[in-house]
Amino acid sequence: MRHINEVFIHCTATKPNWMERHTSDQKVAEIRRWHVEERGWSDIGYHFIIDRNGNVVEGRPIERVGAHVRGHNSNSIGICLIGGFGGSATDQFEEHFTEAQREKVLKLLNDLTQKFPDAKIRAHNEVAAKACPCFNVSEFMKNDRHTEKTKDVQEGSGSNASFLTSLINLIVGLLRK
Ligand SMILES: [Zn+2]
Repeated sequence: MRHINEVFIHCTATKPNWMERHTSDQKVAEIRRWHVEERGWSDIGYHFIIDRNGNVVEGRPIERVGAHVRGHNSNSIGICLIGGFGGSATDQFEEHFTEAQREKVLKLLNDLTQKFPDAKIRAHNEVAAKACPCFNVSEFMKNDRHTEKTKDVQEGSGSNASFLTSLINLIVGLLRK
């Protein structure tokens, strides 16, 4: 497996209703056709495509170098969200994408960063003068971490909460000495 140090987020820049009567596989086949027939590439440029209903479809196998960010392809993975028509780099995620896409992209990013711990999550617009993927990825990730933490503490269950409890007990124990 090649060394992965970046994961890039992209969008298709298509309207929300683009090919809405078609399956996710058919949409991915169409994106593959753009890349292969119109651009002359060997395969679809992205490694994962996330449809509006949250379906995650594999594009080019991750073992293979993708074609999605000029100058950054050899050590990166490309994820593409379907949507983002007419957007700009400073838009909010929810202006262009669905809750199902939010859930699935976060899960996929979590899986990929566990598998490739050196990988930084980046937006195409961080390294090129482009709107793609039409939101600020670092802000999006920050907000997500905040939400997750708040949820764990509120629920008072789960491993984070029990870890916190043992930590507090430890500190209280130390203070008593
Ligand atoms: Zn892009």
